[in-house]
Amino acid sequence: MARKYELETIPIWDAFDQESECPLCILDEAAEQRYVEFFLGNSVMLPEMRVEVNKTGFCPDHFARLWNAAGNPHSLSLVTHTHLIDLMDGARKWESALRSGAPVSGKQTVKRVERYIEYLRGRERSCMICDRMDYTLRRYAFSIVYLWDKKDDFAQTLRDSKGFCYHHLPGLLQMAVDQLSGPKLARFAAEVAACGRRNMERMEAELLWYTQKFDYQNDGKPWGTSKDALQRALQKIAGKIFRGKRDRRS
Ligand SMILES: [Zn+2]
Ligand SMILES: [Zn+2]
Repeated sequence: MARKYELETIPIWDAFDQESECPLCILDEAAEQRYVEFFLGNSVMLPEMRVEVNKTGFCPDHFARLWNAAGNPHSLSLVTHTHLIDLMDGARKWESALRSGAPVSGKQTVKRVERYIEYLRGRERSCMICDRMDYTLRRYAFSIVYLWDKKDDFAQTLRDSKGFCYHHLPGLLQMAVDQLSGPKLARFAAEVAACGRRNMERMEAELLWYTQKFDYQNDGKPWGTSKDALQRALQKIAGKIFRGKRDRRS
């Protein structure tokens, strides 16, 4: 197995120990938290980091998280200021082309407007937190495939787990395709698919009962494991851990 990624075992075992609907959701959320804290800390003020923040910035979702998490927004204000200047510098040539008002053909105007749109959309998509999370998640997926291959007790833990969400599953399968081959890949895919199907069916039944509990005729019947079925089903689909709004009906 090619070792392109650093192997991480402790966080992987810890995430599987939590018996959630997807261990990669737990790892993903923890990584995001770490990066948000990092970008609000002092290291962001280092010159090489400033250069990267100016150039890449953050996506709208991560700007919102930084804003919400910032206690004292001093460093956020400084990096936002220089990032804004960088965005404006990049936009200048497209804006000048449009502002000049020089007579051009309709086709040319459309082209200029489209280039400006392309620039703005491209800049909005780029995000230092998303980039780092993508890399970290690939590393975790690498470690899961590696541990499954090398450690029997881990392979058993995976088979007994609640599987993965549909958001994180493709990345894990892609890593398996990259790292395994032949019968090993077939066995990994078979085990993940079997565990996934079993747990998705369990999840679907739990969610069905959750929806049926809205019927007054089911008021007195026990919830079973369905009290938080909606938030777990959302996690299975979207790859995020949903908290709060636990059903308080008796
Ligand atoms: Zn997940
Ligand atoms: Zn982002």
